[in-house]
Amino acid sequence: MTDKKTNPKDELIPLKKINSIPNLIQDNSGKEAKVKSRQSFAKTIGLTGGIGSGKTTVAQVIEKMGFPVYYSDVRAKEIVNEDKVLKEKIKMLLGNTAYDENGFYDRKFVAEKVFNNSNLLQNLNTLIHPAVKTDFENWVKNQNSDFVFKETALLFELNLNETCYKSILVTADDRLRIKRVMDRDGKTYREIENIMQKQMSEKAKCKLADFIIYNNSTLENLKVEIEKMLAALIQNKSKF
Ligand code: ATP
Repeated sequence: MTDKKTNPKDELIPLKKINSIPNLIQDNSGKEAKVKSRQSFAKTIGLTGGIGSGKTTVAQVIEKMGFPVYYSDVRAKEIVNEDKVLKEKIKMLLGNTAYDENGFYDRKFVAEKVFNNSNLLQNLNTLIHPAVKTDFENWVKNQNSDFVFKETALLFELNLNETCYKSILVTADDRLRIKRVMDRDGKTYREIENIMQKQMSEKAKCKLADFIIYNNSTLENLKVEIEKMLAALIQNKSKF
């Protein structure tokens, strides 16, 4: 990941050139040190928003425009099945029945087990979040773009914005978000309101975000807002 303070744009080396560097280089002590042949200098843009804000919709539009997008929550659901070490750790925490007879993560069982047990949920997250972080780091190395986007529900809650070049918050009026999620998931008004109340406030997130996209209108208008945001991002102008 690129650090904006230590790696300003004018120092960037094209990825193609980096890819052609041999796999072995000399380290300071003169010993040969094996380094990763691929190293991305893409700037990571954190993309977040509360339930029903439209962050996935925004991510999909950005992806269609040609930017690489990492969907953290989607990957987390895959990693619990793919990462053997993580699997063993989860079994140690929650028992073997956290995985079904076919070896797949039993989401329903786990949800019931951690429901109303915030310590257990926290411990589970302590196992999953670093695995997602590593997965993202591996993914970003293979991206050939000046900017990559990381869509995640918990950007500010987990302080992930600190490792991002910029952050984008997608927000919309509460009632609109609730209606959109009711239409999407069939949840009740009260259920969604409860989830919203447990999430970080929009006010707090707005203070932390570099860019805010207000998603209170049509999808066409949302696309226009995204284009404006991308233009500002490329020109390095926050809070446009
Ligand atoms: P969650 O955190 O619950 O996953 P999200 O922030 O990713 O939500 P989306 O899934 O992108 O939100 O959007 C919620 C719903 O609202 C989706 O069904 C999406 O198609 C719809 N939606 C998003 N933006 C708009 C819009 N501007 N106009 C109409 N529908 C929209």
